[in-house]
Amino acid sequence: MKTDIQIAQEAKILHIRDIAAKINLSEEDYDQYGRYKAKLNLDILKKNSHKKDGKLILVTAITPTPAGEGKSTVTVGLTQAMNKLGKKSIAALREPSLGPVFGMKGGATGGGHSQVIPMEDINLHFTGDLHAIGVAHNLISACIDNHIKHGNQLDIDVTKIAFKRVMDMNDRSLRNIVIGMGGIANGIPRENSFQITVASEIMAILCLSESIMDLKNRISEIVFGYDRAGKPLKVSDLKIEGAITALLKEAIKPNLVQTLENTPVIIHGGPFANIAHGCNSLLATKMALKLSDYAITEAGFAADLGAEKFLDIKCRKGGLNPNAVVIVATVKALKLHGGMNSKELKEENLEALTKGIENLDKHIENMKNFGLPVVVAINKFVTDSAAELDFIKTHCETLDVPVALCDVWADGGDGGIELAKLVIDEIENKENNFKYLYKVEDSIEEKIEKIVKDIYGGDGVIFTPNAKKMIKTLNEYGYDKLPICMSKTQKSISDNPKLMGRPSGFAVTINELRLSAGAGFIVAMAGSILDMPGLPKIPSAELIYIDEAGIISGLF
Ligand code: ADP
Repeated sequence: MKTDIQIAQEAKILHIRDIAAKINLSEEDYDQYGRYKAKLNLDILKKNSHKKDGKLILVTAITPTPAGEGKSTVTVGLTQAMNKLGKKSIAALREPSLGPVFGMKGGATGGGHSQVIPMEDINLHFTGDLHAIGVAHNLISACIDNHIKHGNQLDIDVTKIAFKRVMDMNDRSLRNIVIGMGGIANGIPRENSFQITVASEIMAILCLSESIMDLKNRISEIVFGYDRAGKPLKVSDLKIEGAITALLKEAIKPNLVQTLENTPVIIHGGPFANIAHGCNSLLATKMALKLSDYAITEAGFAADLGAEKFLDIKCRKGGLNPNAVVIVATVKALKLHGGMNSKELKEENLEALTKGIENLDKHIENMKNFGLPVVVAINKFVTDSAAELDFIKTHCETLDVPVALCDVWADGGDGGIELAKLVIDEIENKENNFKYLYKVEDSIEEKIEKIVKDIYGGDGVIFTPNAKKMIKTLNEYGYDKLPICMSKTQKSISDNPKLMGRPSGFAVTINELRLSAGAGFIVAMAGSILDMPGLPKIPSAELIYIDEAGIISGLF
């Protein structure tokens, strides 16, 4: 069987100007990055403002397991299928981070016959956006320590600096470090730590900004720490927002690439899905809506995290009106949710499937409660038995939820025709009563309680004394009317990674709140979430090769 990279390298790739022409872009609308990538100018939105937006489809999934769900694969397959049906469609995806590429997760460009190309470029550096974000972030960190070294006029409390340093790599040894060692010439010693670049608030800001000036204003608003009287200190206090924004002048432009079937894809931004909102950029999504009939996007992790934040944070911020939600489910993952041993997943087990399907049920209920049409996509693996696939189909039909078997991994767009037709039918014929889960005017506690009770199915929320103290500070300085960005394990709908399926009878403990004032949300931490991953014992870095001709292998 061919690997993802082999399939991608055998594809007939078109010049990026031919892809741009398919969505009616002229040469002044973009800057080419070589032959197969381009950066889209932000003017495109203004130039097309008279046009009606296309329909917005969100692809999300059941609770992830190591068996893999294939959200990106289905997103790419669905856009290929839409185009095959003669509907103009653009997928709007997230950019990969180098950390997971060399660790274990895999890339962000889909798989099998539903991929985005050139996949090596996209997975390795791409157009440099992550680099720019990292440097912009680290300029703030450098200026904070420089300010302290030169007299600390702002009276920065060195024990309350929330702004870390970043690097786009998995490196656990940088989680807790001491900087400024070696005497006064080398700065003031203090404890510090690194996050992976995608966890940077700059990444979240870039993904929620609507223009270069909006980006600058949001950067000004970042609260990097507190003074010794407890007052929040902003990046504007350091007077560096202009420089930071200048570093991001190209990174804010969405990137145009193509699928294996030469249909357009915009890849831009990729914030963490736990301490940030996990969606591609608002600008990219808005461009996809202006330039196509169907814009298809995805959000990180499962529907309890990614979709909830897409709807409550991104759609609210950007005034987006989603038209449908696709929930990706797999036989293997549902069997794991039903308690099956991961080593036996290739064998048919209807009993485990019958039990595990409650995980899918909860995600369907949640998405329906947002008032949106829902379609289930069963991402078919070669090991699935006909009886297992039938079981999921019949189960969804009983719930009156449209369901399609999706074989886009093996067949590309052809494998997604049934799904595409169902999605179009739902959008055209079903009622859409989209509403947010909570009002931003609700108190911080009320907002978190709504998410825990209505989305996770929990009994309530426990706020630790530390969390209560932070809520008081947020209320005192007027930061309480922001949406909530929940940070919890992706492995369970609850805050306990061991609870599979559809957990009940639990309370969620919030032990910390973090303010992302520039991005415009409050991060509620349920458990200790790592923002700097580590590498596994055998990292995928050991499997990647390049030959004399520059051909890369082993990258998925
Ligand atoms: P997600 O977006 O949910 O993280 P991806 O779409 O990136 O998942 O897929 C993860 C991996 O699983 C990729 O390497 C992809 O090739 C593989 N994969 C996805 N769907 C299938 C499938 N139906 N059969 C076999 N492998 C698949």
